[in-house]
Amino acid sequence: MTALTLRDLADIDVARLKGVGEKKQASLAAIDVSNLLDLLTTYPRRWVDRTNEARLADLVPGEEALVLVTVRSVSKRMTRNRRTMVNVNVGDGSGRMDLVFFNQPWRERQLRVGLQIALFGKADIYRGGLQMSNPVVDLIGDRTGRIVPIYPQSEKAQINTWEMAGWIEETLRRCRERGITDSVPSSVLQRLGLMSRYDAFTNIHLPESIKDKENARRRLAFDELLRVQLVLVLRKRKMERDERGFGHSVDGDLVRRFYEALPFPLTGAQERVIEEINTDLAAPHPMHRLLQGDVGSGKTIVAVATMLAAVQSSNQAALMAPTEVLAEQHATGVRALLADVSVPDSGNLFGDRPLRIELLTNRVTGADRKEVLLGLGDGSVDIVIGTHALIQEAVDFSSLGAVVVDEQHRFGVEQRAALRAKTVDSAVPDMLVMTATPIPRTAAMTVYGDLDVSVLDELPPGRTPIKTHWANGPLMETGVWAEVRDQASEGRQAYVVCPLIGESEKLEVASAEETLERLAHDELSGLRLGLLHGRLSASDKEATMESFRSGDLDVLVATTVIEVGVDVPNATVMVILDADRFGIAQLHQLRGRVGRGEHESTCWLVTQQHEDGDGNTRIEALVATTDGFELAEVDLDLRGEGTLMSTSQKGRSDLKLASLRRDRKLVELARQAAFEIVDSDPDLAGHLDLGDELQLIFSESDEEFLSKS
Ligand code: ADP
Ligand code: MG
Repeated sequence: MTALTLRDLADIDVARLKGVGEKKQASLAAIDVSNLLDLLTTYPRRWVDRTNEARLADLVPGEEALVLVTVRSVSKRMTRNRRTMVNVNVGDGSGRMDLVFFNQPWRERQLRVGLQIALFGKADIYRGGLQMSNPVVDLIGDRTGRIVPIYPQSEKAQINTWEMAGWIEETLRRCRERGITDSVPSSVLQRLGLMSRYDAFTNIHLPESIKDKENARRRLAFDELLRVQLVLVLRKRKMERDERGFGHSVDGDLVRRFYEALPFPLTGAQERVIEEINTDLAAPHPMHRLLQGDVGSGKTIVAVATMLAAVQSSNQAALMAPTEVLAEQHATGVRALLADVSVPDSGNLFGDRPLRIELLTNRVTGADRKEVLLGLGDGSVDIVIGTHALIQEAVDFSSLGAVVVDEQHRFGVEQRAALRAKTVDSAVPDMLVMTATPIPRTAAMTVYGDLDVSVLDELPPGRTPIKTHWANGPLMETGVWAEVRDQASEGRQAYVVCPLIGESEKLEVASAEETLERLAHDELSGLRLGLLHGRLSASDKEATMESFRSGDLDVLVATTVIEVGVDVPNATVMVILDADRFGIAQLHQLRGRVGRGEHESTCWLVTQQHEDGDGNTRIEALVATTDGFELAEVDLDLRGEGTLMSTSQKGRSDLKLASLRRDRKLVELARQAAFEIVDSDPDLAGHLDLGDELQLIFSESDEEFLSKS
């Protein structure tokens, strides 16, 4: 008799269980449980540990405790201020206690006389007796056992936690004889000290101790993470195997000239990352690499080095930015970096020819556009910088050898695929995806697990750390403007970022204009103020940026268009108004616009005085550290992984137990195991059960995701 596979379990309908008739079947379907696999993976939401149980007679007022009691009486009434109040009297053979629930009218129906319930809360003395108000209530039924699992229950579905427990127990009992297949290689289980799968299912639902439950959770969470990693690693290895790429020559004259022309030595991190990239560039299969680097860590140099390697090998390179403004800024920056670098060319009388760098956005039109397109087609354009338009329309490259994508979080798997599809002669360009929004390591492994990851974790020398302050309320804001005036009188410059207003650019622009008016008349009167926002024409924007850069403006009042890419070393003050409306990543980006020169910089996070809230936690985090990776961890903790995973990260919904936050170590172990398995058995021919589980679990929700590989 062979053990049951997960697919076997998925093939058995819940209707086969005792007590599941048509009605219960429908109720279960309402909570997405239709087969035994669904049932076994409906995990308890809590475990009541009866070994910690107290008797009512032993309760100490003011201390939290768990008691198991029987409901004796229930009544409901309205309070004077029209709140509902449910009073319940309970007992356990040692004594009695009153419960009071405010604004929970449904408790009257839930807590029927005679019901066994577990209560967790703090008892107080009220009118001479014990009372708990709004305790945590778990319905236990007449279940025994030291640890009682509590299942999620929904009023609507009409399934209570002990019915669920009963069906799960029955399922486990029926599985016992045949057992459940363990698809994970035993060597992996042994090394990581993981229990068998059957034991894990048993111990998560019917643990003897909290420790057993924890070990079971670890095993089942590992399975979830391993499946995700297997899909990603399979895809990664398949790309490496099947795609033909370019083998660029990485240390020729052109690249050497570029380094020689740099006014500064590379940082250690830049050298290391360029080395990692060069290994990929030289290899015959395409690179798919994510470059994470904090604001100001010098990613542009790495991008340019990457592109030059392609150009040096007589191919072209493209740099894609998420917006036109950024594309324009990149074009300016890259041109400046390469101003003195020419391409060695033996066919030329002088042995050299200039590099040809072109900009291609929707703003480049008419004859100019034709010219660029022509140059891309005949190979005379070496580097093109633009927006997504580069891949969307009919742009033909003569030979596109490398692509750098800036700011990956607005650039998905689909675009990457589109770009690969563009390649004419089926050689896939090397791809480097850059992000200035650090993602915690383990999250990156999951969200971008099919990419290799490089990290620029060192800032160029000579930066003075940025001091960050929170100006909470108008009184402190006054001090901020005084500081801006002070700095201006010393010849320094400042940014003022205006509040985010919903999704509307129009409102945002209006608020920026208002802020400028106000500051020009009052707080900053006498200073030279400029305004920058997304609705200005490209030339107006460039003109304003130029006067700020050249010091003709003291203060730049702007919307978040300055979030990325602006680089003015003389700017030393960043003022962010209504800072609590911004996310951590965005605040960090904005702050990164200062601290780029020799002078000490300050960032002021201005809020209107208000009560405690999430916004304040974010601001406190910004005040506490300038380390982008540390902030990313805080962000993950605050927002949860939902936000990270939601955007088209389909199929990762398999994570029922595992958490990218709590299980950081486990993510790494799962990834390591996935590599081990795939590298020894590239199409899982020797791991049929494992392969089948991937099909089973990812096929419906994630066909798209899988078929991309
Ligand atoms: P990022 O794009 O990662 O935010 P940039 O590439 O714009 O950072 O670089 C930020 C600033 O640091 C630029 O002014 C750049 O010229 C400078 N820079 C980059 N690398 C170095 C280095 N190795 N030494 C000194 N300055 C550097
Ligand atoms: Mg940059």
